[in-house]
Amino acid sequence: MSSTTRRSILKMAGASAAALSIGTRALHASQMPGRPSAEATESRVNKSSNVMAIAAHPGDAFFAMGAPVAMAAQSGAKGFLLSLTLGEKGSLTIPPAQYGVFQREAAEKAASVMNAEALFFEYPDGELPANEEAKFTVCDLIRQYKPSTVVTHWKGSWHKDHRACYDIVQDAVFYAGLASIIRKLPAHEVKEILFSDNWEDAEGFVSDTYLDITPVCDRWLQACSAFPMWRGENGFRYNDYYASRAVTCGCVSNFKQAVAFMSPADQRVRHIRSL
Ligand SMILES: [Zn+2]
Repeated sequence: MSSTTRRSILKMAGASAAALSIGTRALHASQMPGRPSAEATESRVNKSSNVMAIAAHPGDAFFAMGAPVAMAAQSGAKGFLLSLTLGEKGSLTIPPAQYGVFQREAAEKAASVMNAEALFFEYPDGELPANEEAKFTVCDLIRQYKPSTVVTHWKGSWHKDHRACYDIVQDAVFYAGLASIIRKLPAHEVKEILFSDNWEDAEGFVSDTYLDITPVCDRWLQACSAFPMWRGENGFRYNDYYASRAVTCGCVSNFKQAVAFMSPADQRVRHIRSL
């Protein structure tokens, strides 16, 4: 780290909190993604928008996408966590039918801690179909709940359900916003899609946006603890990973705790009249 960067961090440390740090929108072309700078920080504190997480499994919705939903709820907007499957085949010891019930109960409990709403479809875990029926089902839900921002999986995942969810969401958002596609409810345009920082979706994931989650971090971690798998029962220490990830993302974005996102390529395009 250069002394210039250290100085800029110290300078910013005394400033009031800003909510979002967007690396690729920084003014300096030489700036590395995520490197803190005053120019790269944009405040959206007063621009709360409804946020919907759309995940393959409840664990992804809450662990990898839950913090921005909690931030939306904290700011007075609405937060939704949609799981396309119950992740019912995720236990090493509990039969799927029973584990699916546990997963649903944990998700509802966690959502209530975050003042958000848990939503479910029950596509079979491990067999999530990226077909037109699923895409229109998600389209209808987007038209019903009207999120401004959708947080979902990045496609660079080893898990087939995560890749399927990515495909479903891309087309569902497209269908939801197209007025000429006639469904029960009128069209709704999602303003922004953000891909979540998920340990299972790391292939080609490059963070370009950091959200300050300091105000809700404790509550979000408490919500996640409703899931037994959070503590590592299924072999991965989600609690240690995501709690420490929030700290390291905070370090590189000059927030106390943060989560990182990757934006779709078209959202990274800027239209400017001067530099
Ligand atoms: Zn998953």
